[in-house]
Amino acid sequence: MLNTRYVDLLRKSNYKITPQRLRVIDYVSNHPGHFKAEDVYTHVKGVEPTITLATIYNIFRAMIKSGILDSFEINGTTWFESNTIPHANLYCEKCHAFEDVELPDKILLERLSSECGIKVRTASILLKGTCRSCTTGA
Ligand SMILES: [Zn+2]
Ligand SMILES: [Zn+2]
Repeated sequence: MLNTRYVDLLRKSNYKITPQRLRVIDYVSNHPGHFKAEDVYTHVKGVEPTITLATIYNIFRAMIKSGILDSFEINGTTWFESNTIPHANLYCEKCHAFEDVELPDKILLERLSSECGIKVRTASILLKGTCRSCTTGA
């Protein structure tokens, strides 16, 4: 299912909804987890053969500006996700998947802002270890 909220957010930020953008929005709508531009490129290329990886990155930039996506980097690879609420990403060293970890103390960001005199818009906190299923599983 296409998330029409994403279409609205892009329009609100003055981006035209092109067929290629629509394909990328469709992918993001159906992939709630963490993904790389290459994953989306491989997928969308099947239906939009003229699309390039650079176009995917451009569309992602537009989606970040519109508040649809967030991104973070690990070992030189950029990951994207549609969970734009500040959270920590746990990288599981066993199954190599990411797990979203809710920040136990939302006040942390507010405290950082007031005590350091800065303004935190978003947080990209990277944790490394083992995810819930790898920790509890045999
Ligand atoms: Zn795991
Ligand atoms: Zn995440």
